[in-house]
Amino acid sequence: MTKFNSSYNTYSMSDIEVKIQRLGHNIFSQCRKQTPSIFNKDWWSGKMLDLSMSNKNFKLQLFRFIDVFPSLTSNEDIRHHIQEYFNRDDLHLPATLKFGLLAMTEGITSSLALLALKKNIHHMAKLFISGQNIEEALPQLKNLWDSEISFTTDLLGEKALCEKEAENHLQQYLNLIEKLSLTSSAWKQSSQLETASWGKIPRCNISVKISSLNSQLDPLNFDESLIVLKTRLLKIFKKAQDHNCTVYLDMEHYELKDFTLALFKSLLEDKALSNFQEAGIVLQAYLKDTERDLLQLIEWGSSYQRKFYVRLVKGAYWDHETTIARLQNWPCPVFQKKEHSDANYEKLTNIILDHTNVIRPAFASHNIRSLAHAITQAHQRDLSPNSFELQMLWGMAEPIKKALCQMGYRVRDYVPIGDLVPGMAFLVRRLLENTSNESFLRQSFVDNEEASGLLRAPHFDE
Ligand SMILES: Cc1cc2nc3c(=O)[nH]c(=O)nc-3n(C[C@H](O)[C@H](O)[C@H](O)COP(=O)(O)OP(=O)(O)OC[C@H]3O[C@@H](n4cnc5c(N)ncnc54)[C@H](O)[C@@H]3O)c2cc1C
Repeated sequence: MTKFNSSYNTYSMSDIEVKIQRLGHNIFSQCRKQTPSIFNKDWWSGKMLDLSMSNKNFKLQLFRFIDVFPSLTSNEDIRHHIQEYFNRDDLHLPATLKFGLLAMTEGITSSLALLALKKNIHHMAKLFISGQNIEEALPQLKNLWDSEISFTTDLLGEKALCEKEAENHLQQYLNLIEKLSLTSSAWKQSSQLETASWGKIPRCNISVKISSLNSQLDPLNFDESLIVLKTRLLKIFKKAQDHNCTVYLDMEHYELKDFTLALFKSLLEDKALSNFQEAGIVLQAYLKDTERDLLQLIEWGSSYQRKFYVRLVKGAYWDHETTIARLQNWPCPVFQKKEHSDANYEKLTNIILDHTNVIRPAFASHNIRSLAHAITQAHQRDLSPNSFELQMLWGMAEPIKKALCQMGYRVRDYVPIGDLVPGMAFLVRRLLENTSNESFLRQSFVDNEEASGLLRAPHFDE
């Protein structure tokens, strides 16, 4: 078996650092004057986010309200929650907003104002969710494709609550693969999106959250959960194999991490998938374990002679993991400084790029520094621009996507499809991410911090 070590800084840092910064500035100069749609203050959502970023208490109440909103069935319910969440002195709301809230809860204007509020929340959700079903999403996907951006689609829904729901989700995924591959086969050809250094890439690409496919999923009941999920996922993977579709397993909470990795390996070791080259897994750079997990995956891939995609992300559950570890008095699995997650992202990027014999790399981030580092390190290794791809979330960071796409890189949008109710958890997570002080998008496009500061190399200091 191949042995790996962890010292991957094989190139002169100062030399390469100059190139990373130069590319970063170049990307910045192409997109700084534009505003990503989530921060657009012409829209209600942009105004609300703007206020959230300057008023911590309002942010908390707004996100709590958005979270509970889909379960409020009557206007009376909504009024009651508005009163409870927002009619508080500690929010220090501007007079115009106070007036608007009053209009929603009192007098003859109330029903109309509530209607406007519902419309605004739906509009906000639509920034992140492409459609309620595949039919609604297809025109959006085609528009993306026509603008030279590829996609991976995800059916919203986390943690199935009963087996009927899980089975239903499985059927929806099978249906999604069929419809997507059939419809997209008629779209125009694009060498930028369809050609990789290893061959042709499928147009159809989906991302799956395993917790949505088994209501009894419990990592402590490892073997039984594995049997159930493997059976369901084999159906999805085989359908994908028959319809030329890529399938990623998304990475969720830390407690599911080892299970997800084991499940991924077990699927690819199955005889039925021995020729399937289109499987992918997500790794989270905010986890201290991930370097070890990545090296083990590479070793496993080499020994089984399997190639697969790795989507490198920073991780979407930082607050959750930190809170759980504190509450349970457990060692915290995630880095506690943003710079450490960024530094680890770069370290893992280098490992991935050193193993393209096993891994097909996908760098998912809206952070220009992280992306410029990945691109420059790939060039440094003489990897062609189509031997990796850059992934971003639908509805976010449009100026960055446009700039990278024009530079000739393959950009893929992660496009969620689904109802508002299961979509709310996703929506609130995205809003939290983008309004946090640490968010690269906020620092770049709202706080207008200096590009040179944002592009500085991140370091571990412990
Ligand atoms: C295409 C795509 C697919 C994705 N799929 C997944 C997935 O399957 N699973 C998943 O978990 N996430 C997923 N994400 C979300 C991703 O993990 C990040 O949350 C998101 O991209 C923000 O990171 P950034 O690099 O874009 O921005 P940045 O602003 O550079 O980074 C923000 C990230 O830094 C980390 N962070 C913030 N504060 C701290 C702190 N104090 N200490 C340490 N770290 C901190 C968090 O991970 C936070 O999300 C996906 C993202 C994209 C673009």
